[in-house]
Amino acid sequence: MQAPSILHTSLRTKSIITKTTACRLCGSQRRTDVWSFGETPLANAYRTVEELGQPEFVAPLTVARCEACQLVQLRETVDPTVLFRDYLYVSSTSPTFVAHFDAYAAHLTERFHLRAGTFVIDIGSNDGILLKPLRARGVRALGVEPVAHIADRANAEGAETLPAFFSRSLAREIRSRYGPATVITANNVFAHMPDLDDALQGVQELLAEDGVCAFEVQYLGDLLEKNLFDIVYHEHLCYYHVAPLVPFFARHGFELFDVQRVPVHGGSIRVFVQRANGPHPTETRIQELLDAERAQGLHTLEPYRAFWQRVQTNKESLVRLLSHLRASGKRLAGYGAPAKATTLLQTFGIGPETLEYIVDDDTKFKQGRYMPGSHIPIVAPERLYRDRPDACLILAWNFAEPLMHTHRRFTQQGGRFIVPVPEPRIV
Ligand SMILES: [Zn+2]
Repeated sequence: MQAPSILHTSLRTKSIITKTTACRLCGSQRRTDVWSFGETPLANAYRTVEELGQPEFVAPLTVARCEACQLVQLRETVDPTVLFRDYLYVSSTSPTFVAHFDAYAAHLTERFHLRAGTFVIDIGSNDGILLKPLRARGVRALGVEPVAHIADRANAEGAETLPAFFSRSLAREIRSRYGPATVITANNVFAHMPDLDDALQGVQELLAEDGVCAFEVQYLGDLLEKNLFDIVYHEHLCYYHVAPLVPFFARHGFELFDVQRVPVHGGSIRVFVQRANGPHPTETRIQELLDAERAQGLHTLEPYRAFWQRVQTNKESLVRLLSHLRASGKRLAGYGAPAKATTLLQTFGIGPETLEYIVDDDTKFKQGRYMPGSHIPIVAPERLYRDRPDACLILAWNFAEPLMHTHRRFTQQGGRFIVPVPEPRIV
């Protein structure tokens, strides 16, 4: 199988790619590259048919580890205004996330005794997926969301949202207009923020004296354990574990008092922070997780080397399998076009010579467009039944089981599913 010609019409505009010189959390310059994905397109930049003939933006995707604080992070930062220009991800399209954030709102309300009228800020509030269940419980919840059309949508649905990037200066404005926040939440945004110091200074400005900041981020321990290499893309600047967070928050005058592991996004942590010497007792879960991280060897380079070796072995066996199927005349399609499929296709070198098209039922936005980089067309799932390809490679492989169940008619009609990771498996 030939490598796809992804870079033939690439455009590389240096001014919107910044190479960082120091750790995003602690400022140390002692960083070691652990994984290099080469130059890749933006994972969410699905191409329209008109855009296919135009140059495509690509940027290096290099993961480094800080030798001082252990934070795993991207070397390069793509200008957020470019990165999120075509952003289509809307949380509330997933019933799993709606249920998750409803339970989260219930947890916050009960644990911190949030009463009617209590002021809560959600940073990176998307379409109001957490604001809505908080407001339903009487909480005065305000969102901050940089993607304008998503903020508009939240406002239209009654979830008050400021269309802005969260920063120290915005935090000051919010405080003067609304007063201090009892709780500040930030879910799946800490990985996206290029200036974490500024964000923390904003939290410092805005949080009430005895307030709580709670945030969820994808967990590095899960990434390594479950081979989630495809969650690496330019939007995700940092890959967190607990160890680097403790000194980072301490430097800003905060302390962690609880960490919970939650199953969303392949495995995340929900971290609770208060001002140093705040009212909440420190839960033993923090030390337990720090111990587990040490046992996993996250203070050394070894798990990163072993991880990359597993990804390469995975690639070799998948490429062998797909080449064999194509050589024997089998027709292949893909299933699922999430952002991470861009990283998967790029890493495994899979293009339109292998997959004729990708079906996706997640959102109507993507149907009719083309995958970034590989330019494989994205079509509606009905195509599988009309067209009957011999096999379907599941790109949204974290949802392989429910997806194969939903589309069992495909296998009943003689089709086969291929689960690509952690090792290829034909079902
Ligand atoms: Zn560091």
